[in-house]
Amino acid sequence: MAGRGRHLDAPRLRPDSPVAPAGGPPEGRSWFGELEAIYRELDLGLARLGARCLACGECCTFPPGSPVLYASWPERAYLAGVPRADSTGPRPTGACPWLDTSTMLCTARERRTIGCRAHYCARALPSEETRSAARDLAERALARVKELVRRWGLEWDYAPVLARLSQ
Ligand code: SF4
Ligand code: SF4
Repeated sequence: MAGRGRHLDAPRLRPDSPVAPAGGPPEGRSWFGELEAIYRELDLGLARLGARCLACGECCTFPPGSPVLYASWPERAYLAGVPRADSTGPRPTGACPWLDTSTMLCTARERRTIGCRAHYCARALPSEETRSAARDLAERALARVKELVRRWGLEWDYAPVLARLSQ
């Protein structure tokens, strides 16, 4: 999931803005609903792979040198609608702001990104074949988000989630 996507020629919005650009969503509709449908289908596909995640939260901490979580702007904007869990107390370096470090559970599970959903370590999904299938599902979901971005005139901006939060 690493790498930067190209930027569409669309108005720039704050990464944490939950709204579409002016003139974007037709009356009574929201691209949020479309993103949720993409997530639901992705989750269904992933469930069929039979992963057994221990919910240890290790893959939700990104110390220097570790893999970086990337997501498109719509994914980040949707995630940012959930209050962060990092307002109090010391936290491990690189802990995702939505990780509850007392339980090591995600506090934004319904709104987590494609990368969050499709990443499984070798303990959760032991076969490389199924981990590869999970990556394929993630790529397909991301392609659908790209299509959503094009239709709604949103910003693509595929970027590191944590780095963008600190900007
Ligand atoms: S995928 Fe692996 S590292 Fe991540 S929470 Fe599940 S068991 Fe832990
Ligand atoms: S949003 Fe949730 S699942 Fe994704 S890295 Fe943060 S704590 Fe983990």
